[in-house]
Amino acid sequence: MHPAPAPQIKGWCPGALRPMLSGDGLVVRVRPHAGRLTSVQAAGIAALAHQYGNGMLDLTSRANLQLRGIAPEAHAAVLQGLQTLGLVDSSADSESRRNILVTPFWQPDDGTQRIAATLAQALAAPDAPALPGKFGFAVDGGAQAVLRANPADIRIERGTGGYTVRADGYATGANIGIEEAVPAAMALAHWFLAQRGGLNRMAALAPLHALPERFQAATDFVPSAPKPRPGPVAAGWLVGAEFGQLQAETLAALSTLGALRMTPWQMLLIEGLQHAPALPALVTQAHDARMRVVACTGAPGCLQAAAATRPLARALAPQVPAGRLLHVSGCSKGCAHPRAALTLVATPAGFNLIRHGTAASTPDLLALAPEMIASYLFPTSDAPRI
Ligand code: SF4
Repeated sequence: MHPAPAPQIKGWCPGALRPMLSGDGLVVRVRPHAGRLTSVQAAGIAALAHQYGNGMLDLTSRANLQLRGIAPEAHAAVLQGLQTLGLVDSSADSESRRNILVTPFWQPDDGTQRIAATLAQALAAPDAPALPGKFGFAVDGGAQAVLRANPADIRIERGTGGYTVRADGYATGANIGIEEAVPAAMALAHWFLAQRGGLNRMAALAPLHALPERFQAATDFVPSAPKPRPGPVAAGWLVGAEFGQLQAETLAALSTLGALRMTPWQMLLIEGLQHAPALPALVTQAHDARMRVVACTGAPGCLQAAAATRPLARALAPQVPAGRLLHVSGCSKGCAHPRAALTLVATPAGFNLIRHGTAASTPDLLALAPEMIASYLFPTSDAPRI
């Protein structure tokens, strides 16, 4: 059993071993191995969230699961429960390095799960590179790439001869077989550390340094697929969670339907399911308006938030046109989404509006009162103002 370390008051990569204190208690982040939870693991997490937390769970943009509202004195019991489920790393540093996004659309024989497991082992090794906190990997080995819009510094994708290992921000990569995929990714990680100076992300090196010759060979990459939406897929059924948040009871019900594959899109893939689950809390169809808005925790759950975010996003969702995305953020950190067509950022004076930018971009409009936002954003809508 790991001793429970003191919770971190601030920080943006909470883990199970290094939780973050939020407005509603500790946030304990679970990183499922190779992006998958067995039914037993999912049921166990639901039970822990119910017993020790406030019963709410987050699906994160790094395809992890967060238990919320954990009292600091209950952290040790939660860790013990997670350890029993095989979901605790050997150290906080090792947990932090295991920052791996995995395509949820893998097939049993396509090598994705093998590569993800081997990569996790390599990152847990004593000689693993000491990478910056947000530095991450994407194992995106399907016939089409589905993770290109999701931040990752080193990408392993399908390619000529098997796989391609790429550095984010560069136009070329290395063609390799499956056995070489992880060693090549680790070589690229060590190269990044040698070149980085004070930089934290791979793409920041692109204007400054040419890649090693080996990573300049491949230029022909698999096509990128559009962002998936809820509904049936080859491996099962994709379900969405409003704002990426689930009740423990919903996760417990999902656990009875099959193993769960994590995604970075506020959705879970229920393996092998051939029909929409009868769980009204979940989004099961592609055109549900709830999938057109994202919002971070906001106030009162996040101590950094200047206002509540989710009630506003929920009220605006039916007016957001199909194909567009509205992001409501409690502050300029923009934890919930990197860039959207429309972003509203809470400030003490009201909401700032940013078009086609991030939560930290220069606002187009300042300090809008919540009740005025609908008329600014959707002036031709005949829907009632919020
Ligand atoms: S973006 Fe939202 S969740 Fe993130 S720190 Fe700001 S208020 Fe908190």
